[in-house]
Amino acid sequence: MTTDLLRLMRDPNLIPSEKQTLLSDIAAQAAALDMPCYLVGGSVRDLLLGRPINDLDIIVEGDAINLGEALVQKIGGKLTPHHKFHTAIWHQTTDTIDLITARKETYSSPGALPTVTPSTIDDDLRRRDFTINAMAIRLDGDHYGESLDPLNGQKDLEQGIIRVLHPRSFVDDPTRIFRAIRYEQRYAFDIDPATFNLINSESLGVLGGLSGERIRHEVDLIFEEEHSAKMILRANGLNFFERIHLDLPPFNPDYAEFLDMDPTLDIPADRIAMGYMLWFMELTEASIQSVARRLCFTSDLEDSVSDASRLNRSLPFLADSKPSEWSFAIEKLQLLSIYAVYLVSGQKALLDYLVLWRHVKPHTTGDDLKARGLQPGPRIGEILTQLRAAWLDGSINTAQEEKEWLNKIT
Ligand code: ATP
Repeated sequence: MTTDLLRLMRDPNLIPSEKQTLLSDIAAQAAALDMPCYLVGGSVRDLLLGRPINDLDIIVEGDAINLGEALVQKIGGKLTPHHKFHTAIWHQTTDTIDLITARKETYSSPGALPTVTPSTIDDDLRRRDFTINAMAIRLDGDHYGESLDPLNGQKDLEQGIIRVLHPRSFVDDPTRIFRAIRYEQRYAFDIDPATFNLINSESLGVLGGLSGERIRHEVDLIFEEEHSAKMILRANGLNFFERIHLDLPPFNPDYAEFLDMDPTLDIPADRIAMGYMLWFMELTEASIQSVARRLCFTSDLEDSVSDASRLNRSLPFLADSKPSEWSFAIEKLQLLSIYAVYLVSGQKALLDYLVLWRHVKPHTTGDDLKARGLQPGPRIGEILTQLRAAWLDGSINTAQEEKEWLNKIT
C-alpha cells in the first residue's frame, strides 16, 4: 500500500503541487522537532478514492503550535494559535492549513460538545465519526507515506461502507447522522446495517435537542453538495426533520434540479439560500418565522425565504399585470428569491423581469429634468417612474418618443 500511497500523494491532480510543497515543508519541520505528524481524515479518504483533496487535515503528536511557530520562522506566513485547543492556523500566501494536536475526546452528556485532552494519533483516530475517516498517513522524516488504519477504514472504503466506530457514536454526537447521509449520497456508499440501526429514537431524540446553529451548519453543508437534494430527501425518508421542528416540510423532489443555478443569469448564486427557499417557500409566514428561529437563520436568509414565500402567494393577484406593474411589485425583492419563485411556478413574467425588465431605464435622468426647469422634489421621481413604465409597457420605444412624451408634460 505504501508505494501506491506515495504515487497518490505525488499526483498533482489529487494534491496540487503547491499543497505538496506545503506538505513537504510541514514534514521536514515536524521531523526537525521530532514530532510525529500525519495527514488524516477526509484528505486520506479522498486520496485513497482517487479524488482531489480540498483541505489538508494535519495532526501532530506534540504541540501543534510549536510546529506552526517553526514553520513561520523557516518558511514564512502567519500563525493564528488557539492555546486552549492546542491548534494553530498557518496562513500562507496560497493557502491556510489547520495544524491540530492529536486529541482524545470525552462527552459529558449526549449531544454536548466534547471535552478535549491532548493525546496520541491512535486516540485521535478513535474519536472520529466513521472508519473511512479514521485513517492517517505519516509525514515526518523517514516515516513519510506510512499508513495507519487501526479501524480497517480502507476495507470499508473499498467496499463502500459507512460504519461508526462504536455504538454510542450517534448519541454522543447526532450531527454524525447528517454526516453519514452526506457520505452515503456523495459517494453512493451504503450505511452499514448495524450503524443504520443506531439512527433510532434515542439518537434522534438527542438530535432534536441540538442547538439551531449546529443543525443549520449540517444542513448548509448538505446544500453545498452536488447531490444535496438526494441528501435532504434521504433525511426526509428517515423522518428526522420532524424531531427538529414540527413545521419542517418534506422537500419536494420536483424541485431537486433547481438547486443548480443557471449561470447565464446575472444573479449571484447561493446554493444554501436557494435550498432553504425551495424547501420552505410553501410554508405560512408564521411557520417560516418559527423555523427560521429554530435553525438560527441570519436575518438575510430569513428575508430571502420570506420574500420568496410572499411572492409565491401573490402570483395569482399579479397574473394579468402589465410589465411595469410586475416590475414595481417585485423590484424590492432579492433577485435570488424571484428566481426561486420562477423555478417553482414557471411564471414567465418573473424570468422576463430578471433577464430584461429590471435593466430597463429611461434615457432621461433627474438632472435632465432639472435642466428642463423642474424644481427638485417628488415630481421628478414620479416622472422618471412614469417614463420607465412607458418603456416597460412598450408605449415608448425610442429616444425620440421619450423626448416627445417629455415635451408634452414639462
Ligand atoms: P468533507 O469532504 O465533507 O469536508 P471531511 O472529512 O474533510 O469531509 P470535515 O468536516 O472537514 O470533513 O472534518 C474533518 C475530519 O474530522 C473528518 O474526516 C472526521 O474524521 C473528523 N470529524 C468531523 N466531524 C466529526 C464529528 N462530528 N465526529 C467525529 N469526527 C468528526
